[in-house]
Amino acid sequence: RPRALSGIQPTAGSFHLGNYLGAVRQYVALQETHDAFYMVVDLHAITMPQDPAGLRANTRLAAAQLLAAGLDPDRCTLFIQSHVPEHAQLAWVMNCITGFGEASRMTQFKDKSAKQGADRATVGLFTYPILQVADILLYQADAVPVGEDQRQHIELTRDLAERFNGRFGQTFNLPAAHIVREVAKIHDLQDPTAKMSKSAASPKGLVNLLDEPGVSAKKFRSAVTDTDTVVRFDEKDKPGVSNLLTIHSALTGTGIPELEEQYAGKGYGALKTDVAEIFVAWVTPFRERTQEYLGDPETLDAVMAKGAEKARAVAAETLAAAYDRIGFVPAK
Ligand code: ATP
Ligand code: MG
Repeated sequence: RPRALSGIQPTAGSFHLGNYLGAVRQYVALQETHDAFYMVVDLHAITMPQDPAGLRANTRLAAAQLLAAGLDPDRCTLFIQSHVPEHAQLAWVMNCITGFGEASRMTQFKDKSAKQGADRATVGLFTYPILQVADILLYQADAVPVGEDQRQHIELTRDLAERFNGRFGQTFNLPAAHIVREVAKIHDLQDPTAKMSKSAASPKGLVNLLDEPGVSAKKFRSAVTDTDTVVRFDEKDKPGVSNLLTIHSALTGTGIPELEEQYAGKGYGALKTDVAEIFVAWVTPFRERTQEYLGDPETLDAVMAKGAEKARAVAAETLAAAYDRIGFVPAK
């Protein structure tokens, strides 16, 4: 079986609809066809300031949401990144073969450090794409299910894997991004040219899965569209309407052309109300399942511990091979 690997940050508590449609739903699908490893990336979370109690709670909350979304610990390996120390260890190695200029070109760093104020951004934020490289290479991943915003980091992963292999001998598999075009970039409901993001400036366009469904329904009903009235998919001239059509289509499985026909002569109001209803119907059982997993923290922690053990077996083997190729003296 080919390998899959991905991770999601425990920041902000709730996953948002972009996380789910762009990434988590693909995690669930790939556990059927791949030897899949998924993790809550708490090491990545601390690239931004985190409150300790909040981080701990949000990490368990992220795990509960992954289970609620359909990850099955019998069919995939689910773990917490900091439980597998090899991530930090291989990241150091990768830091040492990455050019400073090369790392400086990562647009996620540019965006996030700009938001934070350049003098407040940490070295951790700067090197986080390289930690991500280590995350992927440790598992010899073939497929990395992510949203469009991560494409550049997967390219960096391939570059560094090739560089290491070229310098020290074949060690790492070259992974490919698994990006589902239709849902690769879900947009903010208030600013439909921007990506829906956990770190959005305003919460008004951000659909958090764990929010009171009524709150999210209202966000859909007041989504920004345009001054035209025809429901048509056109990302350039109708980004707001196109985003709503994408979400509708992803949650119902109805094709976009069919939806355009269905809403012919109906206007934007009907589309917004319907998407709100469809979302609420989908999210209600998701929220219930999340609460069930959270209500049993012993089981949740046991699932994570078992996942970490499975992950570590694979990660340790890869790290040992890399250390050996580099010329480190074996520990025993
Ligand atoms: P931040 O803005 O703080 O980076 P985020 O919203 O990007 O947070 P992450 O935990 O970084 O959340 O991303 C988890 C996964 O969700 C990644 O694979 C990412 O590509 C994907 N993703 C995030 N936002 C979207 C979106 N709007 N549409 C599709 N996929 C997305
Ligand atoms: Mg992100």
